[in-house]
Amino acid sequence: MLHLGHIKQLAKEVGFDLCGVTKCRHFEEDRAFLEGWIREGFASSLDYLKRNIDLRADASLMVEGAKSVIVCGVAYKNFISEGYPEGHNAKIASYACTTDYHTTIKQMLFELSARLKESVPTLSGRCFVDSAPIFEKRYAVEAGLGWIGRQSLLVTPEFGTFVLLGEIVITEECDHYDKPLVSVGCGECRRCVDACPNGAVKERHIDTSRCISCATIERQGEGEKAPLHGWIFGCDECQTVCPYNRKAPYFHNPKFAPLFNPIERTPDREEFKTTPMTRRFRE
Ligand code: SF4
Ligand code: SF4
Repeated sequence: MLHLGHIKQLAKEVGFDLCGVTKCRHFEEDRAFLEGWIREGFASSLDYLKRNIDLRADASLMVEGAKSVIVCGVAYKNFISEGYPEGHNAKIASYACTTDYHTTIKQMLFELSARLKESVPTLSGRCFVDSAPIFEKRYAVEAGLGWIGRQSLLVTPEFGTFVLLGEIVITEECDHYDKPLVSVGCGECRRCVDACPNGAVKERHIDTSRCISCATIERQGEGEKAPLHGWIFGCDECQTVCPYNRKAPYFHNPKFAPLFNPIERTPDREEFKTTPMTRRFRE
């Protein structure tokens, strides 16, 4: 048996800003929503979203005997997250100007797992950082980290949407679990909807065929030519305007410091080779 307070303390010690724990369970409602969304054509040519829906809906299919999901988050807001000057034409999403979070967060999750094993040597499980299909935002909501905003991202009360997530699915139960937040949310705000230059933000989902982030990070199919509005990797437009992001503090963890300043000049190949951008350009 793991103790919730102990998990949170260790998560903080390895560098996470947020940590919540929820039971591993089947999300039938999310599965039905995803299937409908795909049927409506909103997944466009992003075929990976159409695969492994069973696994997404139930993490225990990937980790036999899974009982709990530890959801960890790191805040990464930096000066680039505040937005680019009008007319800037080589814009890069702020998370992509730091060391590749897949590597950084995975290392932090491994360290957290190792520390937890010191308390419970029989503990087993798996760490995920975009490395397998999992409804990570749903688990984050269940674990009390935030809610799903109109632009379909996780919004956290303290750090807004500028948060990167990782999960550990474990076979151990916890003495108690976090609960979803109830007293916060988007309210009447629609800033992200209005800010999207391509009208891609729907009501808590995205039309990926119009989304700049999908167009510049994922591959586009024939006929999907969303205007890029000066973005060359990702897009922060629907995040920069979010009131929760405007009041969010900058990153605390030095591993998430920007590696260059894309407002002054476009980074060269050497500079972006340790960032998430390298995944896109090496394909
Ligand atoms: S990332 Fe950019 S293009 Fe995509 S929904 Fe947000 S504002 Fe629109
Ligand atoms: S901009 Fe407004 S509607 Fe959009 S996620 Fe933030 S609070 Fe919610």
